[in-house]
Amino acid sequence: MGEKYSFFVGGCTLRSWCLLFLLSAGSAILVGALLPAQDTQQEQYVSPWKTAWTYEQASYWGTLDPQYALCNTGKEQSPIDIRNAQKASLLPLTFESQNTPLRYVTNNRYTIRVNYHPGNGNFLLVRDKRYQLTQFHFHHPSEEYIDGKPYPMEIHLMYQAADKSVAGVTVFVQPGSGNPTVQKIWEHMPKNEGQEAVTGVQISPAGLLPAEHVNSYYMYMGSVTAPPCTEGVIWFVLKQPVEISSEQIDAFAKLYPNDARPLQPLNGRVVKQSE
Ligand SMILES: [Zn+2]
Repeated sequence: MGEKYSFFVGGCTLRSWCLLFLLSAGSAILVGALLPAQDTQQEQYVSPWKTAWTYEQASYWGTLDPQYALCNTGKEQSPIDIRNAQKASLLPLTFESQNTPLRYVTNNRYTIRVNYHPGNGNFLLVRDKRYQLTQFHFHHPSEEYIDGKPYPMEIHLMYQAADKSVAGVTVFVQPGSGNPTVQKIWEHMPKNEGQEAVTGVQISPAGLLPAEHVNSYYMYMGSVTAPPCTEGVIWFVLKQPVEISSEQIDAFAKLYPNDARPLQPLNGRVVKQSE
């Protein structure tokens, strides 16, 4: 018996000590199993990418991993330079936003990102189609161009519907007054890859949207702008930028001097814009 216990707990040779050790280990496991999930749940940071990539490699992402092939072979890639968009009577966009606790701010090596889980209560409604917010993140400079020009930054809010279809909302950023929502995020952004746990801070994605004119936008079919460059994303590019301060732009630029994918060919796609 003594042999067996020492095998289990390594270095534990007295039988009574071994029993005590095993009993306490057992009860710890039991207590862990009985506690509600949220008390023991600590989200671990996991990079969303199996194969690392850089923005310098953007012209050949498709060769880095077979999973990234679309980055080079896709015909409906993002971002694009938006010019001469066709006027159309586009559907109104309705944003339903909630103040919820900011739990983690992630630095995933390519951007600063805030993830949202199902049930978060933040939605984008396009007629009767309901998309739920999955995450938002930032680019410096903007990825999308308007008439050949980028903005200093842009925010991408990514949404997914029950049928798994993905919608992206681009909000351009221009220098101006400080943005309190951005400030709360910047105060917790990790300098290196990983995530920072946050307590006692509430944010709403509404703080990253223009206060008005959300129904003035460009629309086109494109892709996610990082590997694996998945297509089928409906992009809503809001015409009205939001302001953040130059200091806030600089703080992000210090971490990410350039996290923008180069422009992609239109390949005959039609970009529409609200009338
Ligand atoms: Zn993005």
